[in-house]
Amino acid sequence: MIFSQVVPAPADPILGLTDAFKADPRTDKVNLGVGIYKDEAGQTPVLKSVKQAEAILLAEENTKNYLGIEGVTLYNKVVQELLFGATHTVTNQERAVTAQAPGGTGALRVAAEFVVRNTPSRVIWVSNPTWANHQNIFETAGLTTKEYGYYDAANHDIDFDAMLRSLEAANQGDLVLLHGCCHNPTGIDLTLEQWQKVGELCAAKGLVPLFDFAYQGFGRGIEEDAEGLRLVASMVPELIIANSFSKNFGLYNERIGAVTLVAATAEEAKVAFSQVKRTIRANYSNPPAHGALIVSTILSRPELKAAWEQELAEMRERIAEMRTLFVESLAAAGVTQDFSFISRQMGMFSFSGLNKAQVEALRAEHGVYIVGSGRISVAGMTKTNMPVICSAIAAVL
Ligand code: PMP
Repeated sequence: MIFSQVVPAPADPILGLTDAFKADPRTDKVNLGVGIYKDEAGQTPVLKSVKQAEAILLAEENTKNYLGIEGVTLYNKVVQELLFGATHTVTNQERAVTAQAPGGTGALRVAAEFVVRNTPSRVIWVSNPTWANHQNIFETAGLTTKEYGYYDAANHDIDFDAMLRSLEAANQGDLVLLHGCCHNPTGIDLTLEQWQKVGELCAAKGLVPLFDFAYQGFGRGIEEDAEGLRLVASMVPELIIANSFSKNFGLYNERIGAVTLVAATAEEAKVAFSQVKRTIRANYSNPPAHGALIVSTILSRPELKAAWEQELAEMRERIAEMRTLFVESLAAAGVTQDFSFISRQMGMFSFSGLNKAQVEALRAEHGVYIVGSGRISVAGMTKTNMPVICSAIAAVL
């Protein structure tokens, strides 16, 4: 008998919240926990461009044979174009290799395990705060996580000096997890000047950036959101990118993302890729096809790509609109505290500054579910639920 010794795992801080939400009998409850985009009707529909790509696949797909370990070849090519643009030093020099992965999570896990098995690096620096699953993924793969300063709670802004100061203590070969855009949970991104300084620091100290790029197109735009990544990639010899299409294609349950490794030379990239593939083989052998075929069908056909860009712009603009409405509605609900910082944050989330007791009161007394850190999914707000949310917040402040 071995299972009798197993102790229960703590509920996941974000997905556990969804379970509690589902079990809540109140009809006016609102879930602003997990990062899922909802439209004005509160739905998360399949994008039209995705439906069109699926119609093409249904008509044209002629085999369900295994993919190669690295996934769909065309997919890996279009991923690199999206990350680095039409032309970039790392792609021109063939220093980037990409493998399809099951979501951003799968990409992060493959990246971390590849590093542990094949390099001397054992430490990864993550921002304080960061996405709740980062430590979990990295430590399960055998890395030690350390935190760098990031958030200035008093001013609801970035504490960039603290970030640089922390990273000064990092050692050569340490990984640094950087949120490419739409920092989760704070919504506060680096400026291009700050990216430049981070790139200089990584280059000078021999730190290896690991970009978590889960929200490309949700901040300022597809190209704009990649500016930091493209700049840093031009400054350091080695980096890794774990990107996800869960949000920007709405392909949450298809589990589609990619891990891209940039090495100092094309030769080293090839060797490293052989080990990335070995890691994948030991985990799930080869990835599922459907999500990658959807993304590669859309991105390789100009008319479908344009349709997707339009749909992504609509999602981005609706979130921006909800940010403004949120700030206005809080004021209308009688909140005198300054929440204008919410309209300056980027992406799906707003880091509200609400404390644990207030978060708990929102849930218990008002059926409004947000993450314990005070993170609110603005992407789940609508004109309909906004008054409920804002009067609940006014009541708990
Ligand atoms: N990184 C960050 C910062 C995220 O917010 C998320 C999703 N919440 C992921 C990675 C994982 O994305 P996926 O669902 O594609 O695994």
